[in-house]
Amino acid sequence: MIQSNLHEQCAVFGIYNHPNAAEITYLCLYALQHRGQESSGIAVSDTRAITMHKAMGLVSQVFSSGEVLAKLKGIHAVGHNRYSTTGSSTIVNAQPILINFKAGQIASAHNGNLTNALNLRRQMEKDGSIFMSTTDTEVIMHLLARSHRSTIEKMILDSLSQVQGAYSMLFLTPAALYGVRDPRGVRPLILGKLGDSWLLSSETCAFDLVGAQIVREIEPGEMIKIDEKGITSYTVPLFERIKNHAHCIFEYIYFSRPDSFVFGNNVDKIRRKFGRQLAVEHPCPGADAVIGIPDSATTAALGYAEESGVKFDIGLIRNHYVGRTFIHPVQSGRDLNVRIKFNPVKGVIKGKNIVLVDDSIVRGTTMKKLVNLMRTAEPASIHLRISSPPIICPCFYGIDMPTKEELIASVKSVEEIRKDFGVDSLGYLSIDTMLSVLKPEERGNFCTACFNGSYFAEPST
Ligand code: SF4
Repeated sequence: MIQSNLHEQCAVFGIYNHPNAAEITYLCLYALQHRGQESSGIAVSDTRAITMHKAMGLVSQVFSSGEVLAKLKGIHAVGHNRYSTTGSSTIVNAQPILINFKAGQIASAHNGNLTNALNLRRQMEKDGSIFMSTTDTEVIMHLLARSHRSTIEKMILDSLSQVQGAYSMLFLTPAALYGVRDPRGVRPLILGKLGDSWLLSSETCAFDLVGAQIVREIEPGEMIKIDEKGITSYTVPLFERIKNHAHCIFEYIYFSRPDSFVFGNNVDKIRRKFGRQLAVEHPCPGADAVIGIPDSATTAALGYAEESGVKFDIGLIRNHYVGRTFIHPVQSGRDLNVRIKFNPVKGVIKGKNIVLVDDSIVRGTTMKKLVNLMRTAEPASIHLRISSPPIICPCFYGIDMPTKEELIASVKSVEEIRKDFGVDSLGYLSIDTMLSVLKPEERGNFCTACFNGSYFAEPST
């Protein structure tokens, strides 16, 4: 995607029983940085008490001083990288959230979005509850604190049985680490092993960084407790009735790193197949080169090139040092946002028929600017291919998307979009073709709501 118009809410990571729990968590949060860049935090337990550090910024900024990590002494930890989908971008909304309640200390880290959080919050506020943040995660902590169940695990299951939507969550008490996934399994959560330590992560690329092995995915609707007795698995009784899963297909299209293994597949393999199928569905006879918009569309572009037999080439150079907070030094009408991030390679593009591949289009405003930029390199033609279907509806399950009216494909036809962008042809992967890449038994277990409006739970109002 040219501009990060879609934002994953968060990354979660947890570790049980490691002498350098904070350091391992810090490294793994680095690997998961792409899932959230607004704030980062680590909570560590020394088996008696939990200490925490969190701040606004990237992992490298939040933990820039070795002293911060050195103070986080303990053998169990949870970490979190945040991008806000609910709640504004301020330190009070940073995670983990650490509370003291009747059962002692507990820290939580959440990836996802609750669809009934607002209703629950309003009800609790009527009853006198005070909220410190505007996150839906704090709603779960209130439910936890209100539960009258006898053990922490029963309290967690009790509170989660009252919420709806998407969550892959970690909880840390002084003595135990918990990992839980919503009954539809919208966001990933994977269990790993590093020597005698257990790890839980949003994506397996974190395991690779520290040399850990994948054990298995946490099942949709499952909670595991890791303590001195080992691993105990629980299911919320209410969840047993929910048979259909709704894994977010966008994890394959854009969010997850290609080197991760999520929902039972290598992301790289699925993303490449999307590109191959795109070449079958929307071929481009006479093309000279396939160019992927770096970095997220590179894998799909490779798939397109392999299937079509057209040469893959590097036609756009991306400046990796442009942060999300780039501010125009002067008012300029020269599409500086796009120009500072990308530069076309004239030697590759000039006089050529180019297939330009991107993974998705949200508002479309940046694509128009990028096509204008590509035109300055004088291609003979530009044929835009998108390795996902048109996005016509917003997401309520943890992805920050504009309103329906702002999504270009919800208000314009493909031909209108083509004219808008000024490209010679435009082709999107269809929903059926996208799903055909998955094994037949997997196809019914994916959420495609942003492409067809088929939500499994409506948001609260
Ligand atoms: S609506 Fe789209 S982005 Fe949201 S969970 Fe479903 S597939 Fe993923």
